Parts: sequence; structure tokens; C-alpha cells
Amino acid sequence: MTDADVAGHPACEVLVVGFGPVGATMAGLLARRGVDVVVVDREVDVYPLPRAAHFDQEIMRIVQELGALDEVAPSTRPLPGMDFLTADRQVLLSMRSGDRTRSGFPASVLFHQPGFDRSIRDSAVQHGARALLGVELVSIDQHAERVTAHLGDGSSIDARWVVACDGARSTVRKTIGTTMDDLEFEEPWLVLDLVLADGTAPPSDVCFQVCDPARPHTLVPMPAPRFRFEFMLLPGEDPEWIQRPEVMLDLLSAWVDPTTVTIERAAVYTFHGLIAHRWRDGRVLLAGDAAHQMPPFLGQGMCSGIRDAANLAWKLTRVLSGASDATLLDTYQAEREPHVRAIVEAAVGFGRLICTTDVAAAAARDEAMLAARAAAGTEAPAGDDGAGLMPPLGPGPLVLDGGGPQAVQVTIDDVRSDDEVGDRFLVVVRSRTTHAASLDAWERAGAFVADASADATWAAVLDAFIPAVDVVVVRPDRYVLAAGSVCPPVPPVLLTAG
Ligand SMILES: Cc1cc2nc3c(=O)[nH]c(=O)nc-3n(C[C@H](O)[C@H](O)[C@H](O)COP(=O)(O)OP(=O)(O)OC[C@H]3O[C@@H](n4cnc5c(N)ncnc54)[C@H](O)[C@@H]3O)c2cc1C
Repeated sequence: MTDADVAGHPACEVLVVGFGPVGATMAGLLARRGVDVVVVDREVDVYPLPRAAHFDQEIMRIVQELGALDEVAPSTRPLPGMDFLTADRQVLLSMRSGDRTRSGFPASVLFHQPGFDRSIRDSAVQHGARALLGVELVSIDQHAERVTAHLGDGSSIDARWVVACDGARSTVRKTIGTTMDDLEFEEPWLVLDLVLADGTAPPSDVCFQVCDPARPHTLVPMPAPRFRFEFMLLPGEDPEWIQRPEVMLDLLSAWVDPTTVTIERAAVYTFHGLIAHRWRDGRVLLAGDAAHQMPPFLGQGMCSGIRDAANLAWKLTRVLSGASDATLLDTYQAEREPHVRAIVEAAVGFGRLICTTDVAAAAARDEAMLAARAAAGTEAPAGDDGAGLMPPLGPGPLVLDGGGPQAVQVTIDDVRSDDEVGDRFLVVVRSRTTHAASLDAWERAGAFVADASADATWAAVLDAFIPAVDVVVVRPDRYVLAAGSVCPPVPPVLLTAG
């Protein structure tokens, strides 16, 4: 790489633009792999008010990899599930979350975003990422071997790669000139974060999506003492009018005694469904809201961005170290976009269901959904184990047929299996005495090879596969690359052409 030290800022291997939750994850995952990372953000501190309220078990597993579990986990609250209700509070649809999943964490948790953002920022810095805060990225120039980023203070910084985690209005996305696929969903909602007075019971323990055509709204039981309400603005309503205290208290009064709550913040957000057509241009990659945005009805916007970071971090590390050619990065959008697209479409689909304001259409919806629920019986829905509800990764040379899932994580004697594997590939075999040639090749490629016949941890990882398998190959982001009776060769895309 060029080691130019331009205008006072040293060159780096990766420049991460944006130190929000996705940029902090990206910077942390790279830095803990030894990559020289600089991260810039135009703000000095984390955004002080929560936007995201929910994340899932896969994100907790990534937090574990970041080494921030002890800081993050205690301040979360497991979310038992989500119910869709009619205006008169009959249950249209009920979704339940498992309390232990394949990663060992609850399927869904609620959290307070500013504390989470600070914890993962801190972990990125502890791993060695260098943060330039209060500095805006203005533009970038790409060259054959590097990218020059121009900053608002007149300085510039050279990097071999740039990852843009600069949010929905991404400057970098505009610079690379990609267009967005618009799923034509645009709805303004009022988000109200409340603090409940001591001794006030939360109005619900699960998330409610109230499909009331007179005013669709959402209840989110944040970690105590907070509680979130979201109210859709009706066509033509003035965002300033709906944020008047007397209007907000009136909206809340159907669910809480307004004298027992303090409104911590009120803001109107317009929810979209957007996906960038190109997530990579040369040495510049997009991740998080810079690459895709979705309405929050499934609580998956930030989760999707953090998954992007986990997918990209190990690939970029291999490319930087010379272990793989840059063609490995072509698998990033190929794997992530179909996954994200399915989630954006589902979130938009739920949004259209919830946001119906046509009374006749809402009545027809309710009748059909109540009939379907009655026909299915009232048995409690099975808890999600963290694999079933997630769409698959897009197909490719590093993805098991069918697109995933992640391997289970086993904890024995307080040791979690991911912590033993670290950021390597994992190859688990029923017995080391077979598959010798392929195992040697995987070991030369840096994989951790585990013999299930000698260790209960790895036997449990293998035994999670139905039907039974003798070999499983797991990527550093815990997705299964292969599972079967034969150990596969190392895929060429992981190696260099030379
Ligand atoms: C009301 C609401 C509820 C939500 N609920 C959920 C939920 O429950 N679960 C969930 O997973 N998601 C949820 N989301 C979505 C989630 O908030 C976003 O997907 C997530 O914040 C995106 O993270 P990010 O790091 O990509 O971008 P951001 O959080 O926007 O961070 C971008 C960072 O880049 C910086 N930046 C921008 N431009 C520049 C520049 N030119 N130079 C330097 N720095 C720059 C910004 O200062 C910022 O720090 C919700 C969103 C909303 C609005």
C-alpha cells in the first residue's frame, strides 16, 4: 500500500466512514483482526436518542465477537414476541421468540441504543481502531491502489479500502453514483419514547402492532423504565401539530395514564424501503443504511447493517493480508443483497398490512386473518430458534445450498465455542482419521480443525445437523459453508490465483 501521510492524517488499510452502530461494528471487527482502521464521523458523540429498539440473536453473537457482551447483554431485555391486533385488540397474528437459540442467546432483545452504540464504539477503539471525530467526509477520489478521502477540515486521508457506513443520506453512496431500488413505501410516523414513573406497569410485555385504520400504532416494551409508542400520521396531518403535548398525551391515553409518563423524546420519521443497486465500486463498499433502508416493523434495519459488517470484515481482512484475491469481495453483495431484500420486502409487506387506513379494507383484512387464526387453532406459536425466520444468504461458492444457516454455538464449562474458534474457519469432522488431504488444505488456509470424536463441544456442533453429517465447514461469520459426508476442498475464491 502507499504509506503516504497526507496532510497530517496517516494512511490506513481501511477507512470506515460513519461511527454509528454499523461503522463501529465494522471498525471493531476489522481492528480485532489486526487491520489498521481509521473511522471518521462528523459527530463527536453517539446519537443521543434511540432509533433502533430491537436486535436479534445473531447480533448478540457479533457483539460477543466484538468482546462487548459483558457491557451490552445486561442492559437488554428479552422480547417474548409480537402480536398484531385489531382496533378492538383481538389478536390477528401472534409471533413468539425462543428464549434460547442456536447461538445460545434469546431470539430477540430490546435495548437502549445510545448505550449500545457507545459500548461497540469503545470496543472498536480498544481493538485499535483510530477514531477521527467531529470531521466530515466531503468526497473521495479512487486510484488504482488506494482511495483518497477529503475531509471537511481541509485534510485528506489515504486508505486501501473505504467502507461507507454513513447512513441513509450517505455522501459516499452519492459519490459512487449508484441508484436505489425504491419499494415505494413512504409513511411518516411519530415515535414517542416515554419514561414510566416508578411502580407503573408497562402497557404490554410483548410488542403490539395495532392495525387500527383510525390510527395505526405500535407499542414497544423497551428495557424498564422506558416504553415506546409509534403512531402513524394520517394523510395530510401536520408533523408539528402531532408533536404538540396535548395531542401526544391524547394519543397515549388509550393505553396509559398520561400522569404516569414523561415524554423523553418525540420525533417524526418517514419510513422507506430502499436498496442500493451497487454496493461496491472499485475500492469502495457500502454497508448498513448507506446500502439499504427499511421500515422498522420487524426491527431489522440496524441488524441488517451489522450483518453486512460481519459478512465483509473477514473477507476484507483476507484480501488485505494477501490470502485471497479481491474477487472474494464480489461475494459480499451477492450473498447479502438477496437476504436484505427479503427482509425489506417483508418489512414493507407488514407495513402495508399495519398502515391500512381504508375502513372497508381493514375490515376485510381482519375478517380473513381472524378466520385463518381460528382455523389454525389457538395453540401458542413455536418460538423462533434464530434460523427459521431469517431469509437465506444469496447463493455462491461460500454458501451451503439453501443459503445458510449459522452453525450452533455450544457452551461447555462456561466456554463458548465461537470464542475457541475466533475469527478462523471451523472444520468439524466426525473423526480426523478420514478426510486427511482436505483437512491439511483447510489447516494451511488457517482453519481451526476440530475432531468430534475427541470433544463433546464439536460433537454437539455436528449433531445439530439433521439429517446427520460427518463434516461441517463454518465460515468466520458462523455461516455454514458445507455440511455432508465428505470434507470439501478449499473453494478457489478463498485462495489467490497465483
Ligand atoms: C424510529 C426507528 C426505529 C428503528 N427501530 C429499529 C429496530 O428496532 N431494530 C433495528 O435493527 N433497526 C431499527 N431502526 C433502523 C436503525 O436505526 C438503522 O438501520 C441504523 O441506525 C443504521 O445504522 P448505520 O450505522 O448504518 O447508520 P447511522 O446510524 O445513521 O450512522 C451513520 C453515521 O455516519 C455519520 N456520517 C454521516 N455522513 C457522514 C459524513 N459525510 N462524514 C462523516 N460521518 C458521517 C453520522 O454522523 C452517523 O454517526 C429504526 C429506525 C428508526 C428511524
